[in-house]
Amino acid sequence: MAHVLILPYPSQGHISPMLQFAMGLTSKGLNVTLVTTSYITKSINTQIGNVSVASISDGYDEGGVRSASSLEVYLDSLEVVGSKSLEELIEKYNQSTKPFTCMVFDTYVPWGDKVAQSVGLPSIAFSTQSCAVSSIYHLVSKGILDVPEPGIIKEMFGLPSMERSEFPSFALKDGSYPTLAAFALDQFNGNQDDWVLFNSFDELETEAITVLQDYFHARAIGPCVPFLPKVDGHDNGYGMSLLAPEDNVCMKWLNEKPANSVVYVSFGSFASLQNKQMEELAEGLKGSGKYFLWVVRAAEQKTLPKGFAENPGENGLVVTWSPQLKVLANEAVGCFLTHCGWNSTLEAINFGVPMLAMPQWTDQPTNAKFIEDVWGTGIRAKVGEEGLIGRKEIMKCIEEVMDGEKRCKIRNNAKKWKELAKEAVTDGGSSDRNINEFVAYVNAMAE
Ligand code: UDP
Repeated sequence: MAHVLILPYPSQGHISPMLQFAMGLTSKGLNVTLVTTSYITKSINTQIGNVSVASISDGYDEGGVRSASSLEVYLDSLEVVGSKSLEELIEKYNQSTKPFTCMVFDTYVPWGDKVAQSVGLPSIAFSTQSCAVSSIYHLVSKGILDVPEPGIIKEMFGLPSMERSEFPSFALKDGSYPTLAAFALDQFNGNQDDWVLFNSFDELETEAITVLQDYFHARAIGPCVPFLPKVDGHDNGYGMSLLAPEDNVCMKWLNEKPANSVVYVSFGSFASLQNKQMEELAEGLKGSGKYFLWVVRAAEQKTLPKGFAENPGENGLVVTWSPQLKVLANEAVGCFLTHCGWNSTLEAINFGVPMLAMPQWTDQPTNAKFIEDVWGTGIRAKVGEEGLIGRKEIMKCIEEVMDGEKRCKIRNNAKKWKELAKEAVTDGGSSDRNINEFVAYVNAMAE
């Protein structure tokens, strides 16, 4: 029987969709082992659904990325130590009764591909970003697309008319975060015959996926988001969470609120906002008069106005982490104020929740552009003086999404995309057909 090794970049936003994809493959009869770092496997099960989990070393078995002196140092160790450890793991499996048939590697773990080639294992790339963002990185890196200068708007390569600030920050080539930018830009190698899987669906990104198909055997297989999160108190729907959700507090509070009355606020697992921005946001949420549930990670709580976490006013609740799928699936949530990470964006689409976009960096500005101008499932808050989004703008936008003129339109679009997302992954839908094509390809390799 075919056995697929799945190698995500070791963080929440990469493991969740690739684990969801892995579960989909097991439901189609494949054996799947997800490989991640020893540090991460300490906090997740060795068997998630029918997916086995195995560990490799990144050189930071005790403390993971946070114990490294910098992200650059960590990435270097992840590649050097990880490559050796992964090679040993593949050799071990290949001498067992369950040898690997192929590897699906995250495009943020390009060394996984090198290891696969060195041991003769076929490899398939998996992108955890949108097709539009992936295609921008590829076209910019190959010198085919130039990001426009400020003030100029370009419409090309299946993208909507876009100005510079709407491109992913790593495509701007402005010298910031050089290691990460190089990583992002050089993710996609290979040629027309090489499979690249995307966590998206054909209907959502028809033009972008068509452009990608000029360069690769590109297939959209998402959204890799569970539709119905289990409500057993532990499982957040993906089957693992690296941070413990404040489940009971959060859901109990939410369950007592009327339908569409709550603004859910989260900036994902990395982003950190300046103190001044946090103050504006805190005042904007309070001033909106709506209920709000705000995730501020423990390490970020120091950026909140003094005493706000403990006393956000009678309408608010601040938690350090939430069971996000359950929150978005709850009918009390009427607006998701989001940083527009790709997982959060797809999750909101999946559950039909209108969005208020406050993108920060990387792919987020592009995702926000699509949310407002292409899919019409939300609006973007405007950045004002000093690069900040002020409290008045936040109040105005919340009002617009929850009560304003555009409310019905946004809600209808959100509902439409929710249906289309569901259709894509249901039997016979576009993503389901693409997964079947992939499964047939893998099974043929194992014969
Ligand atoms: N998430 C969560 N609880 C939270 C905040 C985020 O479970 O309180 C999950 C969220 O559901 C998503 C992931 O963390 O799957 C964040 O990924 P995304 O791509 O949105 O942002 P990133 O963290 O990569 O910036």
